[in-house]
Amino acid sequence: MKIAILSRGPNLYSTKRLKEAASLRGHEVDIIDTLHCYMDITSNRPTVRYHGEELPKYDAIIPRIGASITFYGTAVARQFEMMGTFNINESVAISRSRDKLRSLQLLSRKGIGLPRTGFASKADNIKDVIKNVGGAPLVIKLLEGTQGIGVVLADTAKAAESIIEAFMGLRANILVQEFVKEAGGADIRCLVVGGRVVAAMKRQGAEGEFRSNLHRGGSAEVVKLTKEERQTAVNAAKAMGLNFCGVDLLRSHTGPMVMEVNSSPGLEGIEVATGLDVAGKVIEFLEKNAKFNATKTKGK
Ligand code: ADP
Ligand code: GLU
Repeated sequence: MKIAILSRGPNLYSTKRLKEAASLRGHEVDIIDTLHCYMDITSNRPTVRYHGEELPKYDAIIPRIGASITFYGTAVARQFEMMGTFNINESVAISRSRDKLRSLQLLSRKGIGLPRTGFASKADNIKDVIKNVGGAPLVIKLLEGTQGIGVVLADTAKAAESIIEAFMGLRANILVQEFVKEAGGADIRCLVVGGRVVAAMKRQGAEGEFRSNLHRGGSAEVVKLTKEERQTAVNAAKAMGLNFCGVDLLRSHTGPMVMEVNSSPGLEGIEVATGLDVAGKVIEFLEKNAKFNATKTKGK
């Protein structure tokens, strides 16, 4: 196969590992800088150009699109889809997953476990939103945040009200969420490839930190998933229409709760923690599924 990895960082761990895994299996791989792609949008003959030349026909692309370039990155991915190239995570699914609110609404429709979440635009509704998610302590999240930045724990209803008011005053979109205390500052990252959990790790926040993000100083270890956790991760990936994603779960008293589905999951933390060859699984999936014109809009 001829595979393109859309990535702005050829030296990033995940990009290097995907390239290595593909080469090992005898495939030809190009790493293409998403922002250097430009598009020729014409009827019947869409192309992607790169440094003054038309890119060759690829059998598959693996988009690694960072949150800050979602708009341009999904447009490039869509252009490849129009050319019939198989996209492991189709553009619509990436856009869908980048909107935390939209994602939670879609997951809730499928009956997937979630922390109870409120969303409001007007300050007059704050008290009721706080009551609905079970009162304080509660978590307030900036919709645009990543890597744990913009996730705040409010200990009292009074504190929650002030924080929410402050964010609303700045016209920031926020989610108000039930605090899953029993998770104990840990979450579980499940790597799902082609509807199967291929690796999982438990991330534990630093001492005194309720956020488990590795970027916030958390640590990772191998974890054995329950059947229910495995099924929840698979269902979440399916609801989002992603073939290759990271599903973050909290262990709550009422079962696994999905917090987020990440369409460009990092491979370093999980491969190092588990010793598993996740990149190899991704390429294996492409070998079985990357057919011409086979990218279909999945998930809802
Ligand atoms: P980001 O997308 O910025 O990583 P998350 O929503 O994943 O934001 O939250 C970051 C971390 O904070 C999570 O990994 C988890 O450890 C913790 N966390 C988030 N929401 C909750 C919650 N409702 N209850 C308990 N812990 C939470
Ligand atoms: N690579 C980061 C992770 O898997 C997030 C990148 C993204 O927003 O896609 O946690």
